[in-house]
Amino acid sequence: MRKITKITIFTIIGQLLLSLNASASTKYISIATGAITGVYYPTGGAICRLVNRGRKDHGIRCSVESTGGSVANLNALRNRVIDFGIVQSDWQYHAFKGTGFFGDQPPYKDLRSIASFYTETFAIAVKHSSGISKIDDLIGKNVNFGPVGSGMYATMEVLSSVKGWSKSDFKSIAQLNPSEQPEALCNDRIDAMIYVSGNPNGVLQEATQYQDPNCKVKILNIDRPTIKKLVKINPFYVKAIIPGGMYNDNPKNIETFGIKATLVTSKSIKSDIVYNVTKALFNNFDNFKTLHPVFTALNIKNSVTEGNSAPLHPGAIRYYKEVGLLK
Ligand code: GLU
Repeated sequence: MRKITKITIFTIIGQLLLSLNASASTKYISIATGAITGVYYPTGGAICRLVNRGRKDHGIRCSVESTGGSVANLNALRNRVIDFGIVQSDWQYHAFKGTGFFGDQPPYKDLRSIASFYTETFAIAVKHSSGISKIDDLIGKNVNFGPVGSGMYATMEVLSSVKGWSKSDFKSIAQLNPSEQPEALCNDRIDAMIYVSGNPNGVLQEATQYQDPNCKVKILNIDRPTIKKLVKINPFYVKAIIPGGMYNDNPKNIETFGIKATLVTSKSIKSDIVYNVTKALFNNFDNFKTLHPVFTALNIKNSVTEGNSAPLHPGAIRYYKEVGLLK
């Protein structure tokens, strides 16, 4: 057996003390995102990557969590089981006000915004062979609203209320995860799938890649009067387009509505942590924009001003003032 020398023992003790010291000063943060094949997950990953790069300077270690989506993320923030979340701007608004899907909860006054990113579009996809050509044809069908904690479920409820649909108008309402939908659609377990996300996203890419002619998928236009109504009632909705050719077999522009994907946190998260996350993101924004095709057209000024209905967190304000984005 090798003889353990005094020097070896001192080295081991020294390293132990060093690592204890490092872990004591490391601050762990996590970002709640969405399905792994969505865009929130890679967005959270991109933010964490930039934060972790500067770990030596600020001591923050960032990780991402895959979740059910916006509503689950806002509830997790409120219950203090997560530090940051990516959420749709409409659910940010409703959580802060205690309205809409959050109408049975008190306003979440401690919700704080940091930035907004790209536009997420509302997409309903069906099989070409389904005979469904417009959203009114969904009545009497098996429609996947998604998990109750998702933005898609809540947004489907808003669309239903504008359309005057009730849940009993559908043959059934499934609650499959976004990533379970393409296969369920192809196998006729559902007649329609929903997704609210940036483009391109893995869920719609998967749904539109089947070679089997029976599984060809089309994304439906939302009719203009409905879009008009939605945008009028909900100030955070905008008219939006899923560009033609973005997905296989969908060569024409698809008319729909959209909201912003936003990064939020809670008042209880320390200002220097939020400052360092904001700084890591925007000081490296050109790099960030290369990390997913949906980020390409992002503009830092819009990130500060659009889609943030909860007050900005003081840590984010400090950074924006420092770089002259806020007075
Ligand atoms: N907007 C979706 C939701 O909040 C998530 C979309 C995504 O992950 O890209 O449920």
